[in-house]
Amino acid sequence: MQDKLSLMIPGPTPVPERVLLAMARHPIGHRSAEFQAIVARTTEQLQWLHQTSNNVLVLAGSGTAAMEAGIINVLSKGDRVLCGDNGKFGERWVKVAQAYGLDVQVIKAEWGSPLNPEDFRIALEADSNKKIKAVIITHSETSTGVLNDLESINNHVKAHGEALIVVDAVTSLGACNVPIDQWALDVVCSGSQKGYMIPPGLSFVAMGERAWNAYKRSDLPKFYLDLGKYRKSAAENSNPFTPAINLYFALEASLEMMQKEGLEAIFARHERHRFATCAAMEAIGLSLYAASGSGSPAITAVAPKGIDAELIRKVVKNRFQILLAGGQDHLKGEVFRIGHLGFVCDRDILCAVAAIEAALMELGAAPNQMGAGVAAAAAALRSV
Ligand SMILES: *Cc1c(COP(=O)(O)O)cnc(C)c1O
Repeated sequence: MQDKLSLMIPGPTPVPERVLLAMARHPIGHRSAEFQAIVARTTEQLQWLHQTSNNVLVLAGSGTAAMEAGIINVLSKGDRVLCGDNGKFGERWVKVAQAYGLDVQVIKAEWGSPLNPEDFRIALEADSNKKIKAVIITHSETSTGVLNDLESINNHVKAHGEALIVVDAVTSLGACNVPIDQWALDVVCSGSQKGYMIPPGLSFVAMGERAWNAYKRSDLPKFYLDLGKYRKSAAENSNPFTPAINLYFALEASLEMMQKEGLEAIFARHERHRFATCAAMEAIGLSLYAASGSGSPAITAVAPKGIDAELIRKVVKNRFQILLAGGQDHLKGEVFRIGHLGFVCDRDILCAVAAIEAALMELGAAPNQMGAGVAAAAAALRSV
């Protein structure tokens, strides 16, 4: 059935109709007063979403562009950095940092477990010469559905005094609390196709004062992703290069929807959906992949032991028009992931749970009690 596929992957996420319609017009000139007004308005909205008075700069690129910009604008050749790695996106941070010749000390945790803040404390306390220039972590590790303890790790960074904290908040921003000013987060990166409810193509970097001081010293090569250019243009409600104009129309519309709902309500909705999804999987008898208490508000990874996760995904997609995400790398076939990020309502959760149960039935792996997942999800959705 055409146009019925529902995305329950951690990006791209579903886009509200009014956001799609906002984009359905001719681009306007990006040096026009009309466009400047949109930049002014979205800048304010972005600061609201980021809970910051820092610059939030908008790039035409996917989330990885923001990550790369986050590194090359505040660091210099050979700088020592601590990089957290407990999944595919932590690995990506390591690769970007290495690509620019940084001296990367990797702090690992098993896939499925959160990073241990103690590991950061020990490494930072051992650095009496203050050689570590940045601590770089992924907040919500999308590949495993684990939420890392950003607040604790950041506290250790603050105790160090020199190092900046650079955060991939791609699947946490707009899903749970990331109070940039309150926690004094230096560099925070995100992308449009996740919590923002708009299509891929924009990415965002929020930079604080300490990060701008580091920018002045930074000698890594940069041109398109030179954030100084974006800051200068932003002061005139403009962009240094041709922006993704129609995505700005979408951004304005989606942030307006988010403002109407309110930050607290958005975070509570994601938490409800995480909670209901987890309760349902446990009721069905499927194991959660993320260690207990570390589940991400954006995505739940499920390890259906003894059944090929790819088969479940295939039936859910072909029979019920719901796209779940698969496992990455060694988790392919071991894990499927249910995205509940962005424009998601209770109905989506109930449908996904029901489709998973029905798929298990088709595959001859039905749980003892069919409907147990839906019942658990419904109860969980009612209770919070
Ligand atoms: C999606 C995602 C990214 C960005 O990926 P792009 O494909 O470049 O948009 C980065 N980090 C995390 C944790 C993500 O989920």
